[in-house]
Amino acid sequence: QAKAHGRNALRFFDPAMQAVVAARAELEVDLREALRLGAFELHYQAQVDARGCVSGAEALLRWQHPQRGWIAPASFIPLAEETGLILPLGLWVLDVACAQLVAWSKMPHMARLSLAVNVSARQFRQADFAAQVLAAIERSGADPRRLKLELTESLMLDNLDDTILKMSALKAHGIGFSLDDFGTGYSSLAYLKRLPLDEIKIDQSFVRDVLIDANDASIARSILALGQSLNLEVVAEGVETDAQHAFLAEHGCQAYQGYLFNRPQPARQFEAWGAGHPCPDGGEETGRARL
Ligand code: C2E
Ligand code: MG
Ligand code: MG
Ligand code: MG
Repeated sequence: QAKAHGRNALRFFDPAMQAVVAARAELEVDLREALRLGAFELHYQAQVDARGCVSGAEALLRWQHPQRGWIAPASFIPLAEETGLILPLGLWVLDVACAQLVAWSKMPHMARLSLAVNVSARQFRQADFAAQVLAAIERSGADPRRLKLELTESLMLDNLDDTILKMSALKAHGIGFSLDDFGTGYSSLAYLKRLPLDEIKIDQSFVRDVLIDANDASIARSILALGQSLNLEVVAEGVETDAQHAFLAEHGCQAYQGYLFNRPQPARQFEAWGAGHPCPDGGEETGRARL
């Protein structure tokens, strides 16, 4: 019986595996439907500079599932990558982020913020990725200098020449680049030097235990020193406590992101939160909020 259906049919004899396959198929159907119905939303988390002023935001994707409520990206991005749904979804994210930048450009307290967008490997590897980003910018009228793209180490190193070509094409238009989750991959310093990066983000796994794990502390310090020597901005991710913030500041960190400042929140709430944190020392001129 199994042989008649070919080798793939064998897995259906394992009920646990069958349940996993069924759940994935259902999630895939739901994802397609969600894209059609517009059930996705971007939430925004602040990036805060050394003075405590909000200098930017990261856009984080959320899915409002009809039965399951808000779903975090870790539970659907991998499947979206496998199925290719990440391509239309990624385009949608770029369009919404660019439209948000245009809306913020008209709000005095938001006008100077940069906006970081996460890019998946499959999306970045498309031959026309750079053209897609530029088209989104053109459609919206967003200022490309306010847009930052976050890429991971594995993505960048997978095809270094292609990566450098695409990054350089977009950098020529003023778009910034950030290396996300730094320290979790295999970057060598030689590679890092060749990439036209503006920023590296210390992965939150090192920030979490920075005060209790000596290895994490020395990794965080090394990344901060590396950023200084390569002239890259370093953003610490997942900062939750004053003590973590103080440790990082003491070692030269200039930018922070984490629940200590705000949780990712819908645009309206983020704007209101920003308005509630005006930056007093010249904040009015720089248009930046202060915490
Ligand atoms: P990431 O880009 O490294 O984003 C940071 C993650 O850390 C976010 O999780 C954020 O909500 C969470 N976070 C922020 N501050 C804290 C903190 O103080 N403590 C803790 N424990 N967590 C904190 P989220 O939103 O669940 O996103 C997870 C990942 O999904 C992102 O990691 C990113 O890789 C991916 N992702 C999110 N949005 C998109 C998107 O639009 N496109 C693509 N391709 N990937 C996305
Ligand atoms: Mg990110
Ligand atoms: Mg990250
Ligand atoms: Mg991550």
